[in-house]
Amino acid sequence: MTPSTDEVERRIQAFTRTCRRRGLKITHQRLEIFRELAASAEHPDAETVFQAVSRRVPSISRDTVYRTLATLEAEGLVRRVEPLFESARYDANLDRHHHFVCMGCGLVRDFYSADLDDLPIPPAVKTLGEIESAHVEVRGTCSACAQRLGRTRPHRSE
Ligand SMILES: [Zn+2]
Ligand SMILES: [Zn+2]
Repeated sequence: MTPSTDEVERRIQAFTRTCRRRGLKITHQRLEIFRELAASAEHPDAETVFQAVSRRVPSISRDTVYRTLATLEAEGLVRRVEPLFESARYDANLDRHHHFVCMGCGLVRDFYSADLDDLPIPPAVKTLGEIESAHVEVRGTCSACAQRLGRTRPHRSE
């Protein structure tokens, strides 16, 4: 599901607020890169973001897009989706959420679950290090891939 216009605006406002608070320059290019990510449900990689932004801002360089995404990630303004894919994929949804990942085509979709938010972290994890966050990654085959494979009803038992 593509984020609604309201949701995109909310993300952009939160982004500009955080930038101002931290004294980060809000350049036109930065804003366009973030907007592209904020309006996408795809968790795109840097190359995809570059292709999309350069349609609107033809002067933007690939290098700028890659460096900006790295900067935004270091500032916690976007997140990287790890680590299933070769190229880093980015996420502008900073609300608590979880991911469905298709093992066939690499589709990544957000979903929300209060139950999963409250999953207890086993105390043993704390002996490994300090916990910052936790999210659940559900892996499977998306409906488009299932259809392509002719398995429209993958759970049918014969
Ligand atoms: Zn798929
Ligand atoms: Zn996400």
